[in-house]
Amino acid sequence: MHLDPFELHRPSSVDEAVRLAAAHPGAFDFLAGGTDLLPNYKMHLNLRPHLIALDGVGELQGIGLERLGAMERLAQLERDAELARAYPGVADALAEVATPLVRASATVGGNLLVETRCFFFNQSRFWRASLGYCLKAEGDRCHVVPQKERCYATFSGDLAPVLMALDAEVEVAGPSGRRRVPLGAIYDAAGDGIRRHRLSPGEIVVAVHLPGAARRRASAYLKLRVRPSFDFPELGAAAAAELDAGRVRALAVAVGGLETYPRRFDELTAPLIGEHLSDERLRALAEEVMRAVRPVHNTFLAPDYRRKMTRVFVRRALERARARSGGAA
Ligand SMILES: Cc1cc2nc3c(=O)[nH]c(=O)nc-3n(C[C@H](O)[C@H](O)[C@H](O)COP(=O)(O)OP(=O)(O)OC[C@H]3O[C@@H](n4cnc5c(N)ncnc54)[C@H](O)[C@@H]3O)c2cc1C
Ligand code: SF4
Repeated sequence: MHLDPFELHRPSSVDEAVRLAAAHPGAFDFLAGGTDLLPNYKMHLNLRPHLIALDGVGELQGIGLERLGAMERLAQLERDAELARAYPGVADALAEVATPLVRASATVGGNLLVETRCFFFNQSRFWRASLGYCLKAEGDRCHVVPQKERCYATFSGDLAPVLMALDAEVEVAGPSGRRRVPLGAIYDAAGDGIRRHRLSPGEIVVAVHLPGAARRRASAYLKLRVRPSFDFPELGAAAAAELDAGRVRALAVAVGGLETYPRRFDELTAPLIGEHLSDERLRALAEEVMRAVRPVHNTFLAPDYRRKMTRVFVRRALERARARSGGAA
């Protein structure tokens, strides 16, 4: 596998990066740590002739309890003891992304916008050619759900579910200016694995913002993967809870690794506000999340197994968040 030639651009400001993107419509990718993009390029997956590297843009740096710069490396976040104390669920997730070597280069922004994955997509060109390619790269059919004309590639980032559970917002900059949106709103709930996010072409993620309320929530993240030292999530379960004498003040559950986008379940957690977070309620909530998710057969583990494990992992994430908030263990 080799990298085809591309032109590398090195802007030093967000405005310059946005201008460069506008000058090459449909023909560029932003390059952060490159740990997802460059392996995909080596497999000839949706190559672009221009790469706009973001590592020289100072505004994308910075780690604080209220703001995480998009270009901060995951290893750097992992070393921040204050961050881990404030957001233990984020620390759980960081420790489970890929390997320490990958985390040394991987960034926050790249993790939130990591390419969706599918067993039939993340393969060499030679391998894919034998099947006639697929909708997500160079082909005209889906090998997972052939009767449909959409892509079911799976969202496989670890940070998004737990940041969504903490009500994180993202600041984005683009040709139309700046805006701040809830993190969950940048993903496409209509669910196409090809267009995996709702950012406009040329928009850059500048930073993640965490509200003050996030620090009152105890959070947790658990991940199912084939090789615990290495692999992408087959399922990621995040929970965040604020309890007052055992009663729920705020509660959020989000999952990733199951569908085309990370998904939060406010409709299931809202009825628990004001209630005691008992074992029975945790079990019932985890059961409801399991019933809501629809994994397909495009990762290593069977979808039925991933659904069943959703119940187990969501329950355990809730138990861990409850214990961290000082509730029952
Ligand atoms: C062996 C291996 C194992 C892995 N395991 C995991 C895992 O377990 N969990 C996991 O979550 N990930 C995993 N990854 C994927 C990847 O390493 C991480 O998701 C990483 O955080 C991606 O960040 P990056 O900076 O390298 O992104 P890049 O590869 O540089 O970019 C990823 C995508 O995001 C876009 N992008 C990046 N930053 C911005 C920005 N600021 N604004 C707009 N667009 C942007 C890029 O254009 C690209 O489309 C793994 C990768 C490898 C190689
Ligand atoms: S879900 Fe279908 S279209 Fe999408 S990457 Fe897999 S095979 Fe291709």
